Amino acid sequence: MRIVRFVSGRQPRYGVVEGAVVREVEGDIFGKFIVTDRTHSLKRIRFLAPTEPSKIVGVGLNYRDHVDEMKLHTPDEPIIFLKPPSATLPHRGRITYPKVCGRLDYEAELGIVIKRTARAVPVGKAHRYILGYVCFNDVTARDLQRKDGQWTRAKSFDTFAPFGPWIETDLDLSDAPIRALLNGVIRQESNINNLIFEVPYLIHFVSTVMTLYPGDVITTGTPSGVSPMRPGDTIEIEVEGIGRLSNSVVAES
Ligand code: MG
Repeated sequence: MRIVRFVSGRQPRYGVVEGAVVREVEGDIFGKFIVTDRTHSLKRIRFLAPTEPSKIVGVGLNYRDHVDEMKLHTPDEPIIFLKPPSATLPHRGRITYPKVCGRLDYEAELGIVIKRTARAVPVGKAHRYILGYVCFNDVTARDLQRKDGQWTRAKSFDTFAPFGPWIETDLDLSDAPIRALLNGVIRQESNINNLIFEVPYLIHFVSTVMTLYPGDVITTGTPSGVSPMRPGDTIEIEVEGIGRLSNSVVAES
């Protein structure tokens, strides 16, 4: 099932995507809800970021090829960092290229959307805490990441957390190709099954550090092939089985 958040009559709503149609839902997508007969054209809706997370937890260096590309060592535990909720951006939103940034990179990632409050979740029970999956672009000011020696500024500008286009509740993690397309050209291509630390372990690991709430997102790291974007570019993050998240890049005015 594909759960989309969108604007209708100025109200944020949730719906379920069925082909070219969005059917509104009533109730709580994290709990009980029903799918109504009120429909919208998928082509015509204005997308919102799929959730309003209390936090976004990033995972660094979680694909071996990306570790090699960055000339770093494979970590023995996940390297985690935070992106603020103020950075979220929906499908078709514009990524702002900050004036202070000298190199702005895309990072194609699989995002996990948390379903229920999670604290110290055992690996074997992690699946119960997952609502679904999103395409995530962990936009990074690479020069500032290197300059600062820690990642907060580089990962946190407004618009640096595009995710969507919707939440896919059913995804086969054993085989899901992931790619980034810059202006239609494939620049990153890998598979979710190449993750060093897998989805259940990440939920366990992160939830032993901090309580996760419904709508929070863990973004699982990027494969090799990261490179810069420029104003005017279109960047798309695709995970087969979810869909394709598309955003344009604009200069800060
Ligand atoms: Mg990343």
